[in-house]
Amino acid sequence: MKIVRPYAKVMEPEALAQALVRIEYAARVSHRSEDETALNTERFIRAVVLNHGDWSVVEHVSASVEFLVDRGITHEIVRHRIASYTQESTRFVNYAKKMPPTFIYPKPDEECCWCLKGLEPENNGDGWRHYDENDKPFSDCSYEPYWLTAIDEAEHAYRELLSNGWSPQEARSVFPNALSSKIVVSMNIRSWRHFFLMRTTKEAHPQMRQVTIPLLAEFQKLVPVLFEDIAPEARQVANIAKGR
Ligand SMILES: Cc1cc2nc3c(=O)[nH]c(=O)nc-3n(C[C@H](O)[C@H](O)[C@H](O)COP(=O)(O)OP(=O)(O)OC[C@H]3O[C@@H](n4cnc5c(N)ncnc54)[C@H](O)[C@@H]3O)c2cc1C
Ligand SMILES: [Zn+2]
Repeated sequence: MKIVRPYAKVMEPEALAQALVRIEYAARVSHRSEDETALNTERFIRAVVLNHGDWSVVEHVSASVEFLVDRGITHEIVRHRIASYTQESTRFVNYAKKMPPTFIYPKPDEECCWCLKGLEPENNGDGWRHYDENDKPFSDCSYEPYWLTAIDEAEHAYRELLSNGWSPQEARSVFPNALSSKIVVSMNIRSWRHFFLMRTTKEAHPQMRQVTIPLLAEFQKLVPVLFEDIAPEARQVANIAKGR
C-alpha cells in the first residue's frame, strides 16, 4: 500500500507570468491603442479590470495545473464547468501492471514520514508497522489502523479480481475515494479566480485547501495584480463580493 502526498503545480509558469501583457494588448484593441501596450501595464490593468470591472479581458489567458489528489477531490474539481480536464483513467490503467495504486490520507495535519518516503507499512498481526531491511519493526505507522486496513483490503481485492479475469474497469469498483488521481485542469484567469474563491475557504475540504492554498500563492507570485485580493481561509460568504 503506497501512500503519497497530494500536490498542485502550475504547468509552464513562465507563460502565466506573461499574462498581463496579452491581457493588456487584447483590452487595448477596443480603443485601438495596442501601440501603447507594455508602457505601464499594471496601472492599465488596475484601471480597466479592477476599477472599471471589465473582467472579460482576463479570459484571454489560460493556465493549466497538474493536480495529484484523491478521487473525492477530483470529483469536486470537475464540478467547475468553464474548464478543460484530462484525468488518469481507472478504466485504462491496470494498477497491477502499469503502476501500483497510490492513496492519499485524508487528514493533511497527520503525516507518517515513513509512508511518505515510500516505505509501505505492514500488518503481521500486531498492528501496522514499518520494517527495516532485516525485517525488524522500527516504527509504528502513525496513520489510523482502520483506514490502513480498509485501503489494504481494497487493494488486495482489486488484484484478486484482476487475477480472476476481471478487467481494470470492472475491478476499479472496489477502489475507495482515497485512491490518488492525476488530473490536468485548464481554465482561463477568470475561472481560476472563481475556483480559488470557492476552494481556498474554511468551508473547503482540508485536502482541497492543502493543494489550493499553495497554488493560490503561486498564482499570486506570478500575476499578483489579478489574485492579490484573494485571501485563503476566508469564509465563503466573504468571497461572494469578489466574484466577477
Ligand atoms: C464548500 C463547498 C461545498 C459544496 N457542497 C456541495 C454539495 O453538497 N452538493 C453539490 O452538488 N455541490 C456542492 N458544491 C459544488 C458547488 O455547488 C458548485 O457546483 C461548484 O462549486 C462549482 O461552482 P459554480 O457552480 O459556482 O461555478 P463553475 O461551474 O465554476 O462556473 C463559474 C461561473 O460560471 C457561471 N455559470 C457556469 N455554468 C452556468 C450555467 N449553466 N448557467 C449560468 N451560469 C453558469 C456561474 O456564474 C458560475 O459561478 C460545493 C462547493 C463548495 C465550494
Ligand atoms: Zn506509515
